[in-house]
Amino acid sequence: MLLHINTTSDWQMTARLSNGDQRSEYVSAAILAAQEYCRDNRLQFTDTRRRVLEILLEAELPLGAYAILSQLNDEGFGSQPPVAYRALDFLESNGFVHKVDRLAAYVACANPHQPHSPSFLICRNCGSVQEARITSPHRAVRAAARAGGFRIERESIEAVGICASCSSSGH
Ligand SMILES: [Zn+2]
Ligand SMILES: [Zn+2]
Repeated sequence: MLLHINTTSDWQMTARLSNGDQRSEYVSAAILAAQEYCRDNRLQFTDTRRRVLEILLEAELPLGAYAILSQLNDEGFGSQPPVAYRALDFLESNGFVHKVDRLAAYVACANPHQPHSPSFLICRNCGSVQEARITSPHRAVRAAARAGGFRIERESIEAVGICASCSSSGH
């Protein structure tokens, strides 16, 4: 179950090279913050949970559970789907990652632990996903749900289009 995305576009190669150092600093800071959050909240930040979060922080594109599982398998964490799903459930329910339903894939949250319903801008050309911070559409959805007696369990907004980089390279 891999995503139908182009992972070898020139733009992504360039982005990976030019952002390598910044990205690894960002990843270590995010992992450290996650570790502290788990310690303060008495949550177990196991090696597998940590590695899955790291994989998603390092990824430039959303990853499906099976792509994550195959990486875990290569690194000796185990090959059974629950290994990945349990870690993803933990990370999602504690606000470290989000599932992008449209892509059946996961991304690291851009603002972990600040309660929010995510909004995603999904590029249909390169498959990149940006998490946007918007509140009022979510408020409107919640108000409509309340009015209709509907209990929301999970909510996100997903917009599909062309990202700025693809746009400037003529897509
Ligand atoms: Zn988020
Ligand atoms: Zn794009």
